Amino acid sequence: MESYIQISKLNDFVFCPMSLYFHSFYEDYSQKIYHQKAQTEGKMKHENIDRGTYSTAKRYLQGTAVYSCKYNLMGKIDIFDQETGFLIERKNKVKKIYDGYKFQLWAQMFCLEEMGFEVKKLFVHSLSDNKRYEVEKPKGIDEFQFGQMIKQMENFDLLNFNRKANLNKCTKCIYCELCNQ
Ligand code: SF4
Repeated sequence: MESYIQISKLNDFVFCPMSLYFHSFYEDYSQKIYHQKAQTEGKMKHENIDRGTYSTAKRYLQGTAVYSCKYNLMGKIDIFDQETGFLIERKNKVKKIYDGYKFQLWAQMFCLEEMGFEVKKLFVHSLSDNKRYEVEKPKGIDEFQFGQMIKQMENFDLLNFNRKANLNKCTKCIYCELCNQ
């Protein structure tokens, strides 16, 4: 079992803790498929090109691994501009800022700060329509809630999860067919 929490899983957990299980399952499954199918590899490369390189200037950290001992987190940032202090997470298409996006950026920010960087502003950037959304930096109560969520992730008990609390999300969930809760 992992001793740290991956930042990329926060979004799933916020949507539904149960989906973490399916996310992990498909992560392994998908990797095997990628190794077997050339066309899928091509698609992956295309997606990488789509995401592109932001800039070669040294002021930008891109895809840098970050970690936080305080929150037991590890992951990668998308872009951090060391001159402006702007932390940017690019996503293909953004219609609204979900809590999961916010928590992901906060997690990246906590990691960067613990590593000695000064983060001034947070943004989600929608690539398809080139829109940028600012996400407020966490205040005291936000930090408390963030810490609580991390504790819930650490202590999550799959077998005793009560799906009823999440029923309104099940119809929109990509794991709905598989989830026999
Ligand atoms: S189907 Fe419902 S309970 Fe199952 S993972 Fe999706 S949202 Fe969660």
